[in-house]
Amino acid sequence: MINNNFCWIATWKVTDRCNLHCAYCDPSIMKRANEPETINRFEALDRIAAYKPRILNISGGEPSLLKELPGLLSRAKAVWNPYIRVVHNGTGPQKLAEAFPYIDRLVISVDGPGEVNAATRGLGGDAVLDRIAALINSAERCPELMINTVVTEKNIDTLKRFAAQLAAVSPRIGLGLAPVMPPESELSVVRERDGYRRFLDVFAEIKSVHSAVTHDFDCLLRHKNFRKIQCYNQYFSVHFSPRGELFTCGASLGSQLRRTDRAYGKILKKGGLKKAFTMLARAVNGRMGRVDFTCRNICGCESWFDMLLLGLDTEYAPIALRAFKGRLTDEDYTELDTFVKKHINANFDAAKFKRIVEGL
Ligand code: SF4
Ligand code: SF4
Repeated sequence: MINNNFCWIATWKVTDRCNLHCAYCDPSIMKRANEPETINRFEALDRIAAYKPRILNISGGEPSLLKELPGLLSRAKAVWNPYIRVVHNGTGPQKLAEAFPYIDRLVISVDGPGEVNAATRGLGGDAVLDRIAALINSAERCPELMINTVVTEKNIDTLKRFAAQLAAVSPRIGLGLAPVMPPESELSVVRERDGYRRFLDVFAEIKSVHSAVTHDFDCLLRHKNFRKIQCYNQYFSVHFSPRGELFTCGASLGSQLRRTDRAYGKILKKGGLKKAFTMLARAVNGRMGRVDFTCRNICGCESWFDMLLLGLDTEYAPIALRAFKGRLTDEDYTELDTFVKKHINANFDAAKFKRIVEGL
């Protein structure tokens, strides 16, 4: 562990540039595709290599804008051989072809069929599916493909049609459905708890036309209070800036204090002195080495991992967990077992976890 964090799953936001202008993206942090960005990413990769994350998520911005991406991924594979997932916005998966030998899973974000994706991302969903079909037909070696769709009130009723279109391209391409964040927002289909029942009905319909569909709503729905959740994967996952600077959600004292700082500003504006005191107490607790899993930001990322640690069943987790295959040592399993039993779940079944990872 480094700073109380296993660093098993890392997300490297390789660039702040993007060639789309999605309706929900923050323009203050996302640069245009042609804006200059002077970063030595090989040096950044060397910083990341020191942590040896077993799963390396490459996100952005848009990773396909980087000419050096194949070289970076090739070096990562040569130095510590992580499982590599690349997230792409659908504008041109063939542009990543040179990097395919080093990509284990290519995740393409699509919000729904034709007009639905066009409305949010300015790029027709059908056009993305056409590009994927062309890719499958032309590429000699194509990584495992997965479509990631965030479910909202705006697209939920179009997803069966989208799934049928995807099945026509290839029944093997996975379709992962995730709830929009924050879960209590206007667009969320689970803003009211009974929305989950409606979602499950829609999900069953989707599954009837495309069996390779899965969802991770259950990871979220296990929380009674959406505003304050217990997130365990924060002790296993880290984030890196384009320059390879490390960020954690809460596992290190530095992160806790940064988080507290931000919250402090908001609270003082509202005058909630009692809340401020509670935040301060949490920061001090962190200093004392106590493990605090609470999160108020709620990203939903890697929440499948929590389910495994809690021993809860979900379709999604085993699919993702296989990425660790051959990448965890006996020492890793022992360390995991000790940490989880002490802090998360006294009945944690490390042998079952290992069996799923190794496909035994
Ligand atoms: S594809 Fe992603 S990074 Fe690019 S504009 Fe859309 S949400 Fe933002
Ligand atoms: S839910 Fe919160 S603590 Fe967990 S990974 Fe997301 S931001 Fe970090």
